[in-house]
Amino acid sequence: MIRTVLAAGAALALTACSMGQDGAASTAGAALDIPQVAAGDLNIDTMKSVTEKLASDEFEGRAPGTPGEDKTVAYLIEEFKQAGLEPGNNGSWTQTVPFVEIEGRDFSPLKIAGQGKEMSFAFGDDWVGVTYREDEQTDLDNSELVFVGYGINAPEKGWNDYAGVDMKGKTAIILVNDPDYETEGLEGPFNGRAMTYYGRWTYKYEEAARQGAAGAIIIHDTFPAAYGWNVVESSWTGPQVYPERKDGGADQTLVNGWVQKPVAQKILGAAGKDLAALSAAAKKKGFKAVPLGLTASTRFGNTVRKFDSQNVVGVLPGAERPNEYVLYSAHWDHLGHCKPDATGDDICNGAVDNATGTAALVALAEAHAKAGPADRSLVFLAVTGEESGLLGSDYYAANPIFPLSQTVGGLNMDALSLAGPAKDVTVVGGGKSRLDEFLDAALKQEGRTATPESTPEKGYYYRSDHFSMAKRGLPMLYVDGGEDLVEGGTEAGQAYAKDYTENRYHQPSDEYDPAWDWSGALKDLSLYYRIGRMLAMSTSWPNWVEGDEFRAARDKSCEGEGGC
Ligand SMILES: [Zn+2]
Repeated sequence: MIRTVLAAGAALALTACSMGQDGAASTAGAALDIPQVAAGDLNIDTMKSVTEKLASDEFEGRAPGTPGEDKTVAYLIEEFKQAGLEPGNNGSWTQTVPFVEIEGRDFSPLKIAGQGKEMSFAFGDDWVGVTYREDEQTDLDNSELVFVGYGINAPEKGWNDYAGVDMKGKTAIILVNDPDYETEGLEGPFNGRAMTYYGRWTYKYEEAARQGAAGAIIIHDTFPAAYGWNVVESSWTGPQVYPERKDGGADQTLVNGWVQKPVAQKILGAAGKDLAALSAAAKKKGFKAVPLGLTASTRFGNTVRKFDSQNVVGVLPGAERPNEYVLYSAHWDHLGHCKPDATGDDICNGAVDNATGTAALVALAEAHAKAGPADRSLVFLAVTGEESGLLGSDYYAANPIFPLSQTVGGLNMDALSLAGPAKDVTVVGGGKSRLDEFLDAALKQEGRTATPESTPEKGYYYRSDHFSMAKRGLPMLYVDGGEDLVEGGTEAGQAYAKDYTENRYHQPSDEYDPAWDWSGALKDLSLYYRIGRMLAMSTSWPNWVEGDEFRAARDKSCEGEGGC
């Protein structure tokens, strides 16, 4: 995942009421059944041994489709068995996830023509692009350019940037983030400063494809994107891994890409338009897409490779309502062999990210098994392909083994904190669903507090596996280790986070360290145990708060068989 860097924030009691976008709506509805539960018996030795094993060089950084995957999957199956789980997929421990790797090559420049002008932009420095289609050759040929503002079609908000424009064969030029990202507070059609899914680049390409566009090009801008061009360039070049799409991705755009902001200014300038003025217009409801009287062309070749990867899944059947499920998830994959560091080490071991979260699945499974069956079934899902774009979780959510309509909700774990015990936890995406009330109850039992994420504009809720489920309506919590450390307070907590981000995150140095202080991680696990247990002993179906972007998807899924 992309590491959250948190600023100091006063610890707040997190309630749906204080965090909700709409206090009245989020506290409305019947009181939830939130049973008190006993503490879980969590084994620190399990955490240590599973993390150490998964992060060892023998596992080669756990890249999907490599021998490192085979070892990881075999090992996890053994651990799940020993923990007392049953195979989760109709007698099998795995769910096969078909992947497609597409690597572009021989990129020609991005050529813009029209209005008596011709411009050419270099691949890498000025623009990057890929295709989601399994084509040997990609050829975007004189495709008409249309500026579509934020590229959002949100019927529930009465907002459609594509209204009245036929995008067939055309290329959309799209602003990053969502229309009210510059707001200070969290009020606004797109939750103010907080990012919504409509602000994520994944959404923008999905919507452009639904509109029938041939191309979709996002204008990079460091502040609203939350990362620099270097990140775009490094992550959009080289082999890209995708889920296998039906018809080889024929329903996708030909080209998805990014341009640097100064490039966009030049393109719009050639059409006699001004980026700042168009951006301002795009922030207003009723904005109309602007055809630019220009065309875009580029071409490149692609090498396509297909392989299968595996999600690993185990279940503890419920005693009372076994057909209702509570989900724990964590990604087992990491980056595999990567850029060598100064010592020549080229294995990105991913000890923290996410051997710790995967070990937590095993430790939680053991603790729940020891406590005996809960009323509802507990599902433990170790997903593949997170680092390639949440692929394993997305595949699961699109092809759920346990119907989402019969799944109550869940909790995802990605990179536990080894900073030592903290007084608080960091809630990413708080105020979205009534799962917050379960979190509150568990925090109370644990004598801890919640701190909301300090940078909701960066959209961290949309960047790990819980999002794949949330997007399809399943309420999911994402709770990170806190930063207000028992020893040293927030200053020490932030120093730990900064050190991890700068010196270990996605680097060969994210290695297992026998000197780690596990006591804080164990406290976090204890909280995750209680939340899962409370959900598994409850009769309630906590939903997204009224007006949340995922509420409609959940309401629809609840109409399904045995639903909610
Ligand atoms: Zn991760």
